[in-house]
Amino acid sequence: MAANSMGGRALRGAGPKAAPIPSSGPVPPAALDTLHRYFGYDSFRPGQDRMVSAILAGRDALGVMPTGAGKSICYQVPALMLGGLTLVVSPLVSLMGDQVRALKAAGARPAYLNSSLTPAQQNTVLKRASEGWYQIMYVAPERLGDPRFIAFAQALAAPGGLGIPLVAVDEAHCVSQWGQDFRPSYLGISEFIASLPTRPVVAAFTATATDRVRADIVGMLGLTHPASVVTGFDRANLYFGVEELGDKAKAAWIARYARGHADQSGIIYCSTRRAVDELSASLALELMPLGISVGRYHAGMADADRRASQEAFIEDRVPIMVATNAFGMGIDKPNVRYVIHNNVPESIEAYYQEAGRAGRDGDPASCHLLWNGNDFRLRRFLIDRDPNDGSGPEDAAEQREFSRQNRYRLLAQMEGYCQTTGCLRAYILRYFGDEGALGVAGSPAAADADADGAAPHGCGNCGSCLTSFEVEDVTVAARAAVRLVQRLNGRFGKSLVADVLHGANTERIRQMRLDEAPGYGDLADVPSAQIKGVIDQLVGRGYLMQGQGQYPTVGLGPLAVQALTDEGFSFSVRRRSRGASQRVRRAVDLVRDGEAAGGLGASHEDDAELFERLREVRTEIARDRQWAPYMVFSDKTLRALCRQRPHDREGLLAVSGIGEKKADDLGERFLAEIAAFEGAR
Ligand code: ADP
Ligand code: ZN
Repeated sequence: MAANSMGGRALRGAGPKAAPIPSSGPVPPAALDTLHRYFGYDSFRPGQDRMVSAILAGRDALGVMPTGAGKSICYQVPALMLGGLTLVVSPLVSLMGDQVRALKAAGARPAYLNSSLTPAQQNTVLKRASEGWYQIMYVAPERLGDPRFIAFAQALAAPGGLGIPLVAVDEAHCVSQWGQDFRPSYLGISEFIASLPTRPVVAAFTATATDRVRADIVGMLGLTHPASVVTGFDRANLYFGVEELGDKAKAAWIARYARGHADQSGIIYCSTRRAVDELSASLALELMPLGISVGRYHAGMADADRRASQEAFIEDRVPIMVATNAFGMGIDKPNVRYVIHNNVPESIEAYYQEAGRAGRDGDPASCHLLWNGNDFRLRRFLIDRDPNDGSGPEDAAEQREFSRQNRYRLLAQMEGYCQTTGCLRAYILRYFGDEGALGVAGSPAAADADADGAAPHGCGNCGSCLTSFEVEDVTVAARAAVRLVQRLNGRFGKSLVADVLHGANTERIRQMRLDEAPGYGDLADVPSAQIKGVIDQLVGRGYLMQGQGQYPTVGLGPLAVQALTDEGFSFSVRRRSRGASQRVRRAVDLVRDGEAAGGLGASHEDDAELFERLREVRTEIARDRQWAPYMVFSDKTLRALCRQRPHDREGLLAVSGIGEKKADDLGERFLAEIAAFEGAR
């Protein structure tokens, strides 16, 4: 993944303060009707309405919406209304098949055209498309440069042809070299559009775009006065937690978590293939006897194994996936209930993207980041070893150094996330320039400095907000640490500084005669580990500065002078009060699991039992039709069925997520199961 200059300043100004969007009018009733008929939803979500109105009004549009916001509906609904053939450009070949199956299940006429089809199949698709069989076609960007496809599209868009009313560009940030996932083939999109005899409406979608990338999308795709819809980045249904744990303790934590959430789907991310192999093996050993299977996925596995593993996960046969970050792009599974990071990702952006794969369905889900010092050592090692990463071979040394610095900066922000005692959600949203979303102002340091126990303006649904902290005054230790760092001229790392202050009697210290240095043993009664914690906090708040490399040294930071000279200097840290926080956490987990299992708002005591029976019906249908279970109905829809217990078609249509096609096509089996269940009571 490329590192570049935009980094942490992503989306500054993208929040509620952005200029108001000229309205394209309210959503036409026909759009709501289409939404209900095909997808069974009663209303558009915020942002969807504006995108759909703009497109239907013939206006180009740019939608920046987080994962799970429901981007696909924004172009699918217009595609089903506009006549002719809507083209969807997507780089995710593996997702196209799923999207097409899901649309078919909803009663639409979709197709895809990509390299997974044989030439003969491609011919058939093109022929049928020319005859007007399809409403919407997914293509990979490379396809737009294929002369045969261009001729096909030109004929379609010619006066008197069936028409191409809309070109939707998914993952639009791929057009920008400043983005994470630049794809040269995206540069051909605007030329393709320009070659069409009638210009279609162009709508671009992305989940991540800095100002710079957004400008690129508009420019490089040639969007004309686009309506720009930027929804907030907050994913309110996600819980965020951070745990500092040793390597062994991590594995035990994960095993315990998985056991406690045995009937739920989860992804566990590791930073290396080897870690994936080891962790999946140890988890399997522990969980298999309980009937929980564990899958694994990384780029070192054979294609077929990887595919099988992914399918088993999507189809709910294997609930737990241990994977590198190679897994997930193009995975649309809505009911992932937890994402655990066994290691620290390279940036907040990468973390949010991966963690964001939890809870796409909008139900409560959890994101846990487990970390320790080894994670950061490994990351630094990777950055130093791989200066080329993210820049082409032609790039100058200067450019590489720039990229390296940038990656260090991104990692430092990740480190801040691990160590903050402030609201974790606020930290992330600040990173994305969306702090307005929570009404939290100020820098991470400001939030931390407010050391009065629970986070003052927190989200109420993260590890920090749900933990009670004890405030401890560590001014003496802080001052001693800064003073020693000054005396040592910033030549040593954190551990050694802590050891000297503690007065440890190690060989290294004796060798370097540090046991004779002033300051040695000044903090004899504070354990080294605790001193290290104070040093971390000093770094985090700018009193000290940590260098780079695998064994970074600690030097004075911009605020050091305050600690050294200001008599009024005081420094306190917040520590989790263990017992209390765990009680809170358990209570939260219970509530959340209850909600996810349909507990809240449930109207029948036996909902859980019915849910299991309906789930079996779903599994059978999915197996018969070779669909993923969520293409039949989402968990959310099954739970609504348990609550509402419809007895006829009308009742079915009142359930969120059941459109007309599915009511007619699948309704009978679910009605029968519900009736049988109730009859047996
Ligand atoms: P994105 O592509 O933005 O990550 P998706 O298009 O996959 O999001 O949608 C996420 C989930 O939200 C899907 O399960 C989808 O069915 C659901 N969804 C989308 N729009 C609505 C809506 N208006 N009402 C209810 N659920 C919706
Ligand atoms: Zn919070």
